[in-house]
Amino acid sequence: MDLKSKIRNIPDFPKKGIVFRDISTLLQDKEAFNHAVDRLAERYLDKKIDMVAAIESRGFIFGGALADRMDAGFVPVRKLGKLPYETVKKDYTLEYGYATLEMHKDAIEAGQRVLIVDDLIATGGTLLATCGLVEKVGGTVAGIAVLIELSFLKGREKFSKYDFHSIIQYESE
Ligand code: AMP
Repeated sequence: MDLKSKIRNIPDFPKKGIVFRDISTLLQDKEAFNHAVDRLAERYLDKKIDMVAAIESRGFIFGGALADRMDAGFVPVRKLGKLPYETVKKDYTLEYGYATLEMHKDAIEAGQRVLIVDDLIATGGTLLATCGLVEKVGGTVAGIAVLIELSFLKGREKFSKYDFHSIIQYESE
C-alpha cells in the first residue's frame, strides 16, 4: 500500500514555508491506519519490547496501537505541566527558544526495553529529549520508530547510536 498517498500536504501551516504533513487522512482510512501500525510493529515484534513511550499528541495514536500489538505497556511523554505525578524533565530546543518534556519518574523500570514512537521526525529534538528521559530513569532505548521522516533535515544523524526506523520519507519540503 502506498501510505504516502494517504497523507495530506498543507502548505504554509502553521506558518509560511512549512508543509504540514497531515496524518488525519491516513487515520480515517482503516486499512491505511492498520497497515501503518503493522509496518511500524514488524521490525520490533521479536525485540522483546517491554514499553512503548510515545510523545504527545499525535505520537499517542500510533504508540497506543503499537503497545497493544506488541503486548507492551504504554508510557505517555507530555509537555510540561500535564502529568499529575512526580516527573523527570528534559528541555529541548525549538526553532525559537526551548520547551520541556516530562515523563512520570516511575513509568519505566531500570533495564526495561523501550520503543520510542512519534508520528514524524523533523530536526529530531523532540525524539532526542525523549531518549534522554528514558535513559534518565535507567531504561534502554531499544528502538525509535516514526511514521514520517523529513530526511532533508537530517534529524536521523542524532540517532546513530540507536536503532532508528521510519516508514515514509520526504526528501524535500
Ligand atoms: P522535531 O523535534 O523538530 O523533530 O519536530 C517533531 C515534532 O514536530 C513532531 O512531534 C511532529 O508532529 C511536529 N512536526 C514538525 N514538522 C512537522 C511537519 N512538517 N508536519 C507535521 N508535523 C510536524
